[in-house]
Amino acid sequence: MAQPVGLRQRSSIAGAPLPARAARQQHLRCAGSVRLAVRAEAVKEKAKEQSQEQKGAPHAQPPRKFEGWPRKRTWQQETWDRVLESCEDVASHLQRGIRELPSTKALDRLLVEGKGGTLRVQSDKPVVVILGSGWAAHSIMKVIDTDSFEVCVVSPRNHFLFTPMLPSTAVGTIEFRSLLEPVRVANPFVDYFEASCDKIDLEGKVVYCTSKNCYEDGFRPEFQIPYDILVVAVGEQPATFGIPGVEEHCYFMKEIPDSVGLRQRIQQQFELAALPGTKETDMRRALHFVVVGGGPTGVEFAGTLSDFLREDLKKKYPELMPYVRVSLLNATPSILVQFDEKMRQHALDNFKRLDVDVRNDTPVVEVTKDIIRLGSGEELPYGVCVWSAGNAPRPLVKQLAAQIPEQAQYQPGGRPSKLAVDSYLRVIGVDDVVALGDASLYVPERLPATAQVAGQQGAYVAHLINRGFSLGAGGMEQPPPSKRVKDLTLTDRMHEMLAATMAPADDATAKDIVYYNRAFEFFNYGVLAYLGDDKALTQIELPGTSIRLTGALGNLIYKSVYITKQVSFRNRVLILFDWLKAQVFGRDLSNY
Ligand SMILES: Cc1cc2nc3c(=O)[nH]c(=O)nc-3n(C[C@H](O)[C@H](O)[C@H](O)COP(=O)(O)OP(=O)(O)OC[C@H]3O[C@@H](n4cnc5c(N)ncnc54)[C@H](O)[C@@H]3O)c2cc1C
Repeated sequence: MAQPVGLRQRSSIAGAPLPARAARQQHLRCAGSVRLAVRAEAVKEKAKEQSQEQKGAPHAQPPRKFEGWPRKRTWQQETWDRVLESCEDVASHLQRGIRELPSTKALDRLLVEGKGGTLRVQSDKPVVVILGSGWAAHSIMKVIDTDSFEVCVVSPRNHFLFTPMLPSTAVGTIEFRSLLEPVRVANPFVDYFEASCDKIDLEGKVVYCTSKNCYEDGFRPEFQIPYDILVVAVGEQPATFGIPGVEEHCYFMKEIPDSVGLRQRIQQQFELAALPGTKETDMRRALHFVVVGGGPTGVEFAGTLSDFLREDLKKKYPELMPYVRVSLLNATPSILVQFDEKMRQHALDNFKRLDVDVRNDTPVVEVTKDIIRLGSGEELPYGVCVWSAGNAPRPLVKQLAAQIPEQAQYQPGGRPSKLAVDSYLRVIGVDDVVALGDASLYVPERLPATAQVAGQQGAYVAHLINRGFSLGAGGMEQPPPSKRVKDLTLTDRMHEMLAATMAPADDATAKDIVYYNRAFEFFNYGVLAYLGDDKALTQIELPGTSIRLTGALGNLIYKSVYITKQVSFRNRVLILFDWLKAQVFGRDLSNY
């Protein structure tokens, strides 16, 4: 895999000397690049011209009102579309499987020096930059056509994480690595950069990135990637709502390090309480586990924790059990609002049986190192507090949303929070940028911030890009993505024949253009929540009806769905073994 290119030269940072290794790499990269540079410049120019030509015709016109677009299609057409796309995906996976890995790929790429000594990635193919490695980004990178596009993935996390099962890792039912897939494994043909994007120049079409890691002398590489298409899939971060002490004293449930820290802390609290001479009040405090947030994540963690206490810790620390308490604090009148009333009641009954104290309408107003202060003024001594009370926008998304005037009308309360996107997931008010998953707000319809939505959006955009449609400007009245009739491929024609994914322009100015007649459509397959004691809520959505299952049967479906939804065969096997291990030997109590 290519090394990150486009690093800021050390000499340009506070006059620091270029280290020998970096200088050598620099030299190697630049040596012999003249010939490649000429070729790449010519190809890139041509690609640019073509893209301009392609884009120019429809988008150079003043924006027409595209009312009634995209045109309605039948469910049969939608189904055919998905069948064809699945066939394309299988073909591209098979093709990828038999190809050699791109070990010398760096030679295909060039470095050009940009402003301020910062070097930039340059390719002879159109560049697609994907920001993030979560649900949406992973689903794009699995199927995007890396032959036709230079695909650069920028994320501070070098792996995909199967978030729905994260709570299970915090108590050791599932091992951390069983839920991950490294980006370089998900698709070895993309260029991955372990870095964060800090800034985006929407006019110049460049993303500015800073490496996650630094050298021993503190030097942190920075680089730029000019893009032809930008995919923003950076998700959200845990919301603290500005409540004092949350950031400092609570554990979040978002990433693997959160879960690692929490697993250690639970174990430490038991060892602390087990020390000789510990006072009863200290024991009660240390062993009070508080979960804040009554959504599926908070509920699942409370259920999983209660399994750990009952099935494993009880056997090893029987004398401590009278002091153990689990509380679930929820600021709203009900937990699990995604489910119907009957299922919510089932969850409450289950928690009552498991001795989990659920308190609705109980907002937390402050957290100190040993007390949780409630809205009513009550103070709860606690040992571990898990904060799972919602999400907030990432700084990059706020920055972008504030930078685009057309976004203002879609921001709740006028505060920039998500990137509003049109029917084709294009960011409203800019050219060639799509936003997906939790970072986006789908204007045509209110969608939940879930993995299901993010994954489907990723797959949708990958196919749109693969088919070579020019995205153009985002906006509810902007022309849809378009393509020249002369550039239509066999794939396009098959989609057209079976699924009517294209429609000609109805104005005389752009006769040789076809528009993408397929909006993003979300298929809701249902919701699941684990409640502890091998019981789960399962609500499966089918056309015109939904199936609701609770208890052990619900748990069976829950487990089957999560095993099927794993992103690789490896992960499926690892999880099955983890479940078996926990069942036969119990969960591991080692603290390291
Ligand atoms: C514990 C837990 C359980 C959940 N359970 C469910 C469930 O059961 N069902 C369900 O449908 N949904 C569930 N969700 C929600 C689901 O995980 C999210 O909706 C989904 O992850 C959103 O996907 P995304 O791609 O938008 O963002 P994410 O998956 O959050 O990915 C964001 C990516 O962007 C990267 N990033 C962040 N900042 C930058 C930057 N500046 N530059 C570049 N990259 C950046 C991050 O490192 C990450 O890789 C759960 C979430 C959690 C935390």
